[in-house]
Amino acid sequence: MTAPRFKRILLKLSGEVLMGEGGLSIDPAVTGRVAGEIADAKAMGYELCIVVGGGNIFRGLAAAAKGFERATADYMGMLATVMNALAVQNALEQIGIETRVQSAIPMASVCEPFIRRRADRHLEKGRVVIFAAGVGSPFFTTDSGAALRAAEMKCDALFKGTSVDGVYDADPKTVPGAKRYETVTYDTVLAANLKVMDASAVALCRDNNIPIVVFNIRERGNLVRVLAGEATATTVQA
Ligand code: UDP
Repeated sequence: MTAPRFKRILLKLSGEVLMGEGGLSIDPAVTGRVAGEIADAKAMGYELCIVVGGGNIFRGLAAAAKGFERATADYMGMLATVMNALAVQNALEQIGIETRVQSAIPMASVCEPFIRRRADRHLEKGRVVIFAAGVGSPFFTTDSGAALRAAEMKCDALFKGTSVDGVYDADPKTVPGAKRYETVTYDTVLAANLKVMDASAVALCRDNNIPIVVFNIRERGNLVRVLAGEATATTVQA
């Protein structure tokens, strides 16, 4: 058997991945399915860090466009990510996976604060650690939070679960014939403004040499397949 490519990985789940068909912002059936995928990845022997977004509930930038003060709206967005983190934790614990939530905004009655060494210990003990509230500051996104935590936690790769199966040279949902990259460099992503993650997140991954694997998380079983190198995906690398 070939040795696994990575030991510790970070999985970024955007908020919309948790949404249900009927417009439910957090659908227990969906969080249950995602938890099952995470459990399968864990069973393969990976140490798993998760960063959740909040876009299914609240996005600061969109709210600011409608008149909210940007910083306040961003704090509301960060609180939304904590709700999502608790939902994913709940789904994981329902299937027997020990999980800790750590928030970049301390919230002592709800979850742990982000403490890198403590998170490290949780991972060593086989727990899944979910990082909430992004980087803890407005004017950032959870993509940047994911890149930052991946660097701090020394993750071997950042897996970005989306609703498409990789990075394309144009939007595959609107441009017929758009071409998917098998691999693409950080610099191409930044120069061509390809929709992978926001630029600060991509730059942070580039500077720390963390590959970003973009894959479709909506397809059942895909996380395990992509970890095994068997699913269609795009790797962003140097
Ligand atoms: N946010 C923030 N700082 C961070 C992370 C998130 O201000 O470090 C806010 C921002 O308003 C953002 C919202 O939280 O719109 C939800 O996060 P994001 O849009 O990244 O979620 P996703 O698109 O992944 O669901």
